[in-house]
Amino acid sequence: MPDVFADLVGQDEAVTELRRAAAAAAAVLRAGAADRAPALVAAGPTSAVEPASAPAGMDPSAGMTHAWIFTGPPGSGRSVAARAFAAALQCVHGTGCGECPGCRTTMGGTHADVRLVVPEGLSIGVSEMRALVLRAASTPSGGRWQVVVIEDADRLTEAAGNALLKAIEEPPPRTVFLLCAPSTHPDDISVTIRSRCRVVPLRQPPADAVAEVLVRRDGIAPDVAQWAAAAAQGHVGRARRLARDPEARKRREAVLAVPRRLTGVGAAFDAASALIEAAEAEAEASVTESDTTERAALETALGAGGTGRGAAGAMRGAAGQLKELEKRQKSRATRAQRDALDRALVDLAGFYRDALTMALGAPVAPVHTDTAALAGAGAQKWDAEGSLRRLEAVLACRAAIEANVKPRIAVEAMMLALWKG
Ligand SMILES: [Zn+2]
Repeated sequence: MPDVFADLVGQDEAVTELRRAAAAAAAVLRAGAADRAPALVAAGPTSAVEPASAPAGMDPSAGMTHAWIFTGPPGSGRSVAARAFAAALQCVHGTGCGECPGCRTTMGGTHADVRLVVPEGLSIGVSEMRALVLRAASTPSGGRWQVVVIEDADRLTEAAGNALLKAIEEPPPRTVFLLCAPSTHPDDISVTIRSRCRVVPLRQPPADAVAEVLVRRDGIAPDVAQWAAAAAQGHVGRARRLARDPEARKRREAVLAVPRRLTGVGAAFDAASALIEAAEAEAEASVTESDTTERAALETALGAGGTGRGAAGAMRGAAGQLKELEKRQKSRATRAQRDALDRALVDLAGFYRDALTMALGAPVAPVHTDTAALAGAGAQKWDAEGSLRRLEAVLACRAAIEANVKPRIAVEAMMLALWKG
């Protein structure tokens, strides 16, 4: 079995740094077990007894730190890196061997000392964060580290960010925070949190590296893997979905048919509606099942269907909890819709990027090999300038939606701009 870093595609520098840190963390634990250095942050001049085996001045915690931020474009593997590092910290060999119980339970999501926060809605709230910080302060049951992984840390509310900051400022000795965010821009992560963390930048993995992992790990045929890796523009998860899921391929084809369909104002509005509705349908398919299961589970927990004397009163109190659940589910549905729409926009941007590089005669491979002919025709018609304006219209639409402009309005404006050029 390959080790825990095997799926981190095309990120050699980051993997080297994380391996070194995991080894340092293991050294801290060994020193702690021998009662020489009690903990990560307390290591240093306050130690009463100098380590017998380590040379004077050598800090066993060098190379390891208690707060990390993984940054990189979507699909570059931020959360993959964070989970792999968490596994390496819990690995009994301190390496992330991929075979020991520490590695296996962490990668399987069942390790008792690894908490994973995956925001389902638009933001991570303060109550969720407070509860998390509190639990993260307890002694690790496995004797190694308490690890908190926060995916999409850019979706923390301000209050939640403050709760997290307090924990990062005064970290419990055996707690490690792993944050994932698109970048360290203040819009994504507060400057004060950033200043307390070590940053691990991930890059967009090259298509060849993505194709290689699809073949090796997922058993996908090399030619399909090669195509999917290019079409997904370095997004590993998206490449896998394209290679495996015919529905995802169909949706992508529909998006790439948009430039052909823009023949007039009416057609532009139709195309906008089609794009929005496709995103809604995709999002609904992805959340409906979990919504139903959650509601049923909550109702059972609250004693729905009970006939005892307490049942009626319990149901009255339950109304508030159900309302809370509905609010959460609605927020999650909105997020899923935006994500689906964003994927479509990235595909569309790839098409106009192809037209632009062809108009410029740039010696680079097209993103979408299957619509290269169409992009070539566009390049002739629009020239570099017209292609660039269209590419910019797609990117402006993404930015507008990110800034909370109503998706339909942003997409309609984009379609008109794509039609008019
Ligand atoms: Zn291991």
